[in-house]
Amino acid sequence: MSKIVVKFGGSSLADAAQFQKVKSIITADAGRRYVVPSAPGKRCADDIKVTDMLYTCHRQAGEGVSFDDTLAQIKARYQEIINTLGLSLSLDDAFAEIRKQLSTGASKDYAASRGEYLNGMLLADYLGVPFVDAAEIILFDTDGSFLLDETISAVRARLKDLPSAVIPGFYGATRSGLVKTFSRGGSDVTGSIIARAVKATIYENWTDVSGFLVADPRIVEKPEGINTITYEELRELSYMGATVLHEDAIFPVRTAGIPINIRNTNDPDAPGTMIVSDDNDEPSRYTITGIAGKKGFCAINIQKAMMNSELGFCRKVLEVLENHGISFEHMPSGIDTMSIILSKAELEGKEQAVFSDIRKAVNPDHIDLEQGIALLAIVGRGMRRTRGTAARIFAAMAHARINVKMIDQGSSELNVIIGISEADFEEATRRIYDMFIGSES
Ligand code: ASP
Repeated sequence: MSKIVVKFGGSSLADAAQFQKVKSIITADAGRRYVVPSAPGKRCADDIKVTDMLYTCHRQAGEGVSFDDTLAQIKARYQEIINTLGLSLSLDDAFAEIRKQLSTGASKDYAASRGEYLNGMLLADYLGVPFVDAAEIILFDTDGSFLLDETISAVRARLKDLPSAVIPGFYGATRSGLVKTFSRGGSDVTGSIIARAVKATIYENWTDVSGFLVADPRIVEKPEGINTITYEELRELSYMGATVLHEDAIFPVRTAGIPINIRNTNDPDAPGTMIVSDDNDEPSRYTITGIAGKKGFCAINIQKAMMNSELGFCRKVLEVLENHGISFEHMPSGIDTMSIILSKAELEGKEQAVFSDIRKAVNPDHIDLEQGIALLAIVGRGMRRTRGTAARIFAAMAHARINVKMIDQGSSELNVIIGISEADFEEATRRIYDMFIGSES
């Protein structure tokens, strides 16, 4: 029988109606045996996530302000779910313990983790499957770093005789029992670790969208969904801002070759997006798999006659950036020119010092700062086997009279990144989408 790990995000468990959808998804496939829930998320756009309310409790406790009202609101959210589902579970003792801990200086991580802890208990009760506290099996070092190997062994030992279980996401503990959390959205990571430990056939990540879209729906009207994407492609797109999954959720399953399927709790029949290993030769539907980009970049342009024959020129410039703790994105160069594209936020407040150090280091003929640059990544494993991809990208830009300031094609031929003016960002995205998806569909 297949062994599926299912993770449900906060919006999938925001109220009783969502819990009912989750139960029918789980019972629809007997392979869905290990369930990782988030804390209840937003029920509507202006709602507050339970995790955020717990952070508020912790802050109030630290300031010596009463957190009773906030905790009562949190309890009311769980109680409403319990009542509507007709369960007899009582969370009174659990809340009394949380209250006690928060009043006696419990950590921020402990406070935040209770959202998943309580939701896990509730879901386990509703599904009628055992609850396993993540604090027993997801292990952290005292400095907060996650211990992968120890965790894998602990999960295997604990789940060995449990054919199914609910394991809350987002947190774990040190060996001495101090609760630690992953960064926000970290239940994705827990799901991935459990999938790796139990050698799952697949890791299903249920959320409120039907997977990844080819382009940002705020820019392109009703973009197509992505059926399959490789881990490598996903990394390129996530780096450029396409976020559906926590970045750290990829590594545990990627090394074990376990595919991730992003699914929509509100549309369970949609196949979603399948994230597969890089050597999977599943052909892509279109030449490109996705387009993603970001605004907020700038370029340091440097010119010097005979730059190309000056040994160590680039190194000296990059050393200046390194000394200022600045990382850069791209470095296109000519014979006597080089540009460094970097995020505006990296350089903020350091412009004068960086320019003066570059002048001292390489004595350029000219140096200037160009603001307002956007980067757009066109990503797709289909590019490797197709001729003329770059020509199509630049034809699309030329027709739209968009000036391309920078071009970078990775050696893996998986992506082409272009630098354009921020004002052209949306139009460039739409033109590229039309050029590839519009004309190939
Ligand atoms: N509840 C946590 C958060 O809001 C973790 C998660 O949902 O994955 O970030």
